Amino acid sequence: MKRRGFLQGLTLAALGSTFHRTATAAPVGSMKEIQTMQNNWRSLLAAGFKAPAPTEALKLSNDEWRKRLDKAQFNVLREEGTERAGTSPLNAEKRPGVFACAGCDLPLFSSEMKYESGTGWPSFFTTIPGVFATKKDYILFTPRTEYHCVRCGGHHGHVFEDGPAPTGQRWCNNGVALKFIPKQA
Ligand SMILES: [Zn+2]
Repeated sequence: MKRRGFLQGLTLAALGSTFHRTATAAPVGSMKEIQTMQNNWRSLLAAGFKAPAPTEALKLSNDEWRKRLDKAQFNVLREEGTERAGTSPLNAEKRPGVFACAGCDLPLFSSEMKYESGTGWPSFFTTIPGVFATKKDYILFTPRTEYHCVRCGGHHGHVFEDGPAPTGQRWCNNGVALKFIPKQA
């Protein structure tokens, strides 16, 4: 009886791990690994890049933003637009590095936090801590959680609860709102 229970346990464990890998393609296993990523993102920052702090607020007028950003960036960051799915070259970006805000250079995600969600937008299962504020929006009639950069207020995307374990989060980010800084240029 005991032995049978043990074998059943083994089979379930094997099934469980296969399911885990194929169904969610979870890149990490534990919340401890997530915390390590959140603590160590600076190790993926390029040597010459001067990262601003989230507390150094950047406030500009709409005219100033228009000069600083191109049309697509302005539409997403300042008008909460959404880029067409599958259009961002950052979907395919897999090099080690850091994704910063295209409006103000604040580092938002490290390359370790990115995963392939299949949505056509760069997706992340967690963020660098303290870089986003959120609000609920009702643009598509059902409530969604919008998130924006705490430094410049720029809109980046929406966060959903259908991401991979262990966070279960999917930070669905417009590629034009991001600037990728490879660790090695
Ligand atoms: Zn910003």
